Amino acid sequence: MQDGFGRTIDYLRISVTDLCNYRCRYCMPPEGVAKRGHGDILRLEEIEEIARAAVSLGVRKLRLTGGEPLVRRGIVELCARLAAIPGVEDLAITTNGSLLPQMAGELKAAGVRRVNISLDTLREKKFQQLTRQGNLTDTLRGVEEALRQDLAPVKINTVLIGGCNDDEIGNLAALTCLWPVEVRFIELMPIGPAAQFGTEAFLPADTVLQRLPQLQEEPPDGGVARLYRLPGAPGRVGLITPLSCRFCAGCSRLRLTADGKLKPCLHSAEEIEVRGLHGEDLRQALLRAAACKPADYGALSRTERSRAHRDMNQIGG
Ligand code: SAM
Ligand code: SF4
Repeated sequence: MQDGFGRTIDYLRISVTDLCNYRCRYCMPPEGVAKRGHGDILRLEEIEEIARAAVSLGVRKLRLTGGEPLVRRGIVELCARLAAIPGVEDLAITTNGSLLPQMAGELKAAGVRRVNISLDTLREKKFQQLTRQGNLTDTLRGVEEALRQDLAPVKINTVLIGGCNDDEIGNLAALTCLWPVEVRFIELMPIGPAAQFGTEAFLPADTVLQRLPQLQEEPPDGGVARLYRLPGAPGRVGLITPLSCRFCAGCSRLRLTADGKLKPCLHSAEEIEVRGLHGEDLRQALLRAAACKPADYGALSRTERSRAHRDMNQIGG
């Protein structure tokens, strides 16, 4: 599948739920989100049907996200169904990691290849404050279990928030000396609750290079992160720069929301309904979504917020 700018679309990110067991301050309102009725979110069979149609059009990589994907009932079965689709080369999950201690093994057995785990601080109290109801120990155990089950490469997503965790850049990067993980510092995006944060929260990812001048540049691996390594470390440090340097030119993805809308771009308001479509109609809707991907999402900054009409937990970051 190609978009209107000649980019190959081979990656579908699937949000399986808007719900989450955490309430990260930059992502969710304190009260969480209203639970939808069963009929309002895609059933597992519907997700599989849409994924199969996407794969028939050239999608090779699938990622499950949310909300917290591991709280969705039937997630392991869904993973097994998706991994079994001929043509799927990579099935990954983005998770807060809290349920990985008990689920990593069955996810691996179901065919999940790798996980990205969100971890913004290594301080227990700050972790609780930031996630409102999370527990650092669970997430760290989740990382260890993911490594044990070889859900590799394990990537750790750290949203850089000025005045909150920028004092921990060194400690978070040092995880790459301890484990063969990729710690990716991601610029905070002005979407959802984060759009109300003060200017000081929005730090360029280059702050990491200023704080850690010993980082050595690594060759790119085709992903969105610029890569570095601390001398002698088994793992790598990545910088993801949605604000200071957009990576839209290499975008290869479409997104599917839990309620059955295709989003051509994370930050645009455009959505294409696919629920209830089958066969050629479904394929045409996927092609339409690819065709209307914008060249880029325009400027994003503290004062120019995302044009998406949904919060991150409703899109699947
Ligand atoms: N619950 C899972 C998790 O936390 O990994 C998956 C969903 S979460 C929405 C996906 C990713 O989006 C997380 O790494 C999270 O930190 C990131 N995220 C959420 N809001 C963000 C924002 N305003 N700016 C940058 N990243 C954000
Ligand atoms: Fe939940 Fe992930 Fe959003 Fe945190 S970032 S509230 S873990 S969906």
